[in-house]
Amino acid sequence: MAEKVTIEKKVLSENDRLAAEIRSTLENLGVFCINMVSSPGSGKTSILERTLAHFGESIPTALIAGDVQTENDADRLKKAGGKTVRAIETGGACHLDAKMVKRVLDDIDLQDIRLLFIENVGNLVCPASFDLGEDLKVVLMSTTEGDDKPLKYPSMFRRSSVMIINKCDLLGLSNFDKEKARENALTINGKMKIIEVSCRTGEGLEEWYDWLESSVAQKKR
Ligand code: MG
Ligand code: ZN
Repeated sequence: MAEKVTIEKKVLSENDRLAAEIRSTLENLGVFCINMVSSPGSGKTSILERTLAHFGESIPTALIAGDVQTENDADRLKKAGGKTVRAIETGGACHLDAKMVKRVLDDIDLQDIRLLFIENVGNLVCPASFDLGEDLKVVLMSTTEGDDKPLKYPSMFRRSSVMIINKCDLLGLSNFDKEKARENALTINGKMKIIEVSCRTGEGLEEWYDWLESSVAQKKR
């Protein structure tokens, strides 16, 4: 057991070193970077598709889509108008790490990019421990999940700056209690910004776009 803990610590400090390199590269170029996390099926790819369609070329954006297998999400993002999209197939790993991200970033011309989305593997556990050099994490949950997700996966919700509640068009069709979900998230992280949306109908997305636009604008180059 002791040995396992030591190895994990080594892996994480190597990860932190690479994440710091990524962060300083992005800082110098003035690229605002979001690490998108959620359980599978909450709508990470859907909100990114909407976002790409909304901003068009007004915010030059690069996207990295991580999945255990397939490049399906990267293909969807290209179809949605993504000019710079890269897939990472982890081949079994249930999270992205800084090494995988750095390898892909080295191959992207970031000169004119202002915004970088990293769509993590759908998983609320270990992506919380792997810094990818992002400015902040955005966690999605949807109304088809349990409203106690923040209580079950506190590290992820503690480390995220924004929580998006997706599929709000389906409220009332399940036992999901939106107020309870908000309360649970704020219990874990009192500073959490919460945005309610439906990627299907588009409701609530203006608030997300406004937040994103001002976050990108605040990032100096
Ligand atoms: Mg996805
Ligand atoms: Zn993992």
